[in-house]
Amino acid sequence: MTNTPWPHFSEAELACHCGCGRQEMEDSFMTELEKLRTAFGQPMVVTSGFRCPNYNMQASHTGPCGPHTTGKAMDIQISGADAHRLLTLALQQGCFTGIGVSQVGPHNTRFIHLDTIEPSPGRPRPTVWTY
Ligand SMILES: [Zn+2]
Repeated sequence: MTNTPWPHFSEAELACHCGCGRQEMEDSFMTELEKLRTAFGQPMVVTSGFRCPNYNMQASHTGPCGPHTTGKAMDIQISGADAHRLLTLALQQGCFTGIGVSQVGPHNTRFIHLDTIEPSPGRPRPTVWTY
């Protein structure tokens, strides 16, 4: 399945969705995601991995420097009991400093955002938010 260094994640799901072809996920972040995926034990559907600054300005209110432009953030489509289990594992793993929870509306649009971004001015970490 894979053409990335990370066995459970493909180039297509990690690359920017604008068509620019950029895929600049951080190795340290993806190592944590592989660990989480192994603990989770079933497929994780990635809806957003890397985003180039231009695309992030369209896709998010976070602008050209948003979390997904750092290569240390991922959105995973998940809901219900699976979402509860993934959150539990992510918190146990301890490395995820940003956790965004979108769990309203149709189940196939619900997701959890995970990132490992360091705190900086205007970007507190650790933190949890909803959408
Ligand atoms: Zn792009």
